[in-house]
Amino acid sequence: MSFKRPKGLDDGSHVVNNVYECECGNVWEDSWDSGCDDECGSCGADVSPSQTTDDPDCDCDACVAARLAANPPSVSVAARALIDAYGGDVPDWLRGEVAVLEAALEAEAAHHRAIEANRERDEA
Ligand SMILES: [Zn+2]
Ligand SMILES: [Zn+2]
Repeated sequence: MSFKRPKGLDDGSHVVNNVYECECGNVWEDSWDSGCDDECGSCGADVSPSQTTDDPDCDCDACVAARLAANPPSVSVAARALIDAYGGDVPDWLRGEVAVLEAALEAEAAHHRAIEANRERDEA
């Protein structure tokens, strides 16, 4: 997941996107962990956000859990994500298990391809 956390927000806290509209006419957006004031880059005034929305890409524990609950991944997707998390650099003590997972994923993919082929043949 590509998500740029702004200054001071790499502690896993919830992220909101704030919109600021300064009296000088300057309008900007920034991400914070709350609807806090920000400093206008144009005139230096302290500005309160006119709008605060939860960041849809927030990866705090609560948001990740909510997204998973709303859209649970299949076991094969989760297994693939686990393997990919090591970026091909699987520790020695985990190699056997990863090889088994890879084989299981490949077997499942082959199984789905066979079902798909059968369906196409039946429809033809
Ligand atoms: Zn969050
Ligand atoms: Zn301003």
